[in-house]
Amino acid sequence: MAYRVPFVDPREHYRRYKSDIDGAIQDCLVNGDLIHRRQLFDFERNLAAYVGTKDAVGLASGYHALHFALLAAGIGPGDEVITAGHTFTATVSAIIHCGATPVLIEVGKDYNMDPTGLAGALSPRTKALLPVHLNGRVCDMDPIMEFARKNRLTLIEDACQGLGATYRGRMAGSFGTGCFSFYPFKALGALGDAGAITTNDPEVARIARLLRYNGEDRETGEFYFHGYTALLDNLQAAVLDAKLRHFPSWVEHRRMIAEMYRQALSGVKEVATPHFGNDAFRDAYQNYAIMAQRRDALRSFLKEKGVETLVSWPKPMWAHPALRIPDPKLEFTERICREVLSLPLSAETTGEHVAIATAAIREFYAKG
Ligand SMILES: *Cc1c(COP(=O)(O)O)cnc(C)c1O
Repeated sequence: MAYRVPFVDPREHYRRYKSDIDGAIQDCLVNGDLIHRRQLFDFERNLAAYVGTKDAVGLASGYHALHFALLAAGIGPGDEVITAGHTFTATVSAIIHCGATPVLIEVGKDYNMDPTGLAGALSPRTKALLPVHLNGRVCDMDPIMEFARKNRLTLIEDACQGLGATYRGRMAGSFGTGCFSFYPFKALGALGDAGAITTNDPEVARIARLLRYNGEDRETGEFYFHGYTALLDNLQAAVLDAKLRHFPSWVEHRRMIAEMYRQALSGVKEVATPHFGNDAFRDAYQNYAIMAQRRDALRSFLKEKGVETLVSWPKPMWAHPALRIPDPKLEFTERICREVLSLPLSAETTGEHVAIATAAIREFYAKG
């Protein structure tokens, strides 16, 4: 079905940036640059400069960034890592694949880790703190960093949805070890899976570079441990580097579309929009996530009207028995699963799209 208002529009995106994307791919092919070449190193340098860290390490996915950030911090069996209950399963899978135990805490109205839950989650086994900057909004970092400092915990940021968002002028991914995803439908998307770590710690960068390349130092040929095959593909890096030049303007566009949604939905009392009025935060709106009464009925109605939406996520991860995650009893996270709805938002979303989507939402609630 062709939506009048698509959630994202990869074909339109390619039409707009065809010459940049084609040029980046050709540059790789013409020069035979397929693995671990200049285009990867250029992207790493430019990503680090954008985020404001000393280094960046390109990896195969956001999952690998999380896994390697934890391994670089020495996280292993017997350790506990505190993270948010409302996140993508990959955050928790990365902890579990290190042999460690995830400790899930509640999130606040802005969908991000509620720092008041940290003290109750601390144990002698706690080794790391893994806040998730969801929907393009940085977590409330002052209390989180203070807690990490006081308790000597490694700070790892799941910034997979956070690129371009700032807190007190600092970019997501610059507070601790930053973990990014460039999955095609992230705000900066590759043509397939891709990710990166950002860091100021040369040791974290060194370990991540070894882990991604089977544990081998490619200059000396020495193997330092059993690693993985998880490089960011050179082709993907080239495309990402070309897109990164446009990225700041995409963030501005997302913020403008978010403001249009806010205005068009003000006064719809059944809907809570994601505007939290605090100057410390500058959100990048990876998603425009609302909380909506009668969410599932609204979603079906919007679909009939040709408006595509997304639910992240319809049930908490502990409701999937095969994952064997103990129920942390997080009431607000469960409520989010029942009420959350992401509206169409990308660099290609237009004012007309917003008008159609919001008119349909108003019509749905006017019917009663
Ligand atoms: C996308 C995402 C990931 C995983 O990234 P992949 O590149 O798909 O592995 C992890 N955490 C969050 C919050 C994400 O949104």
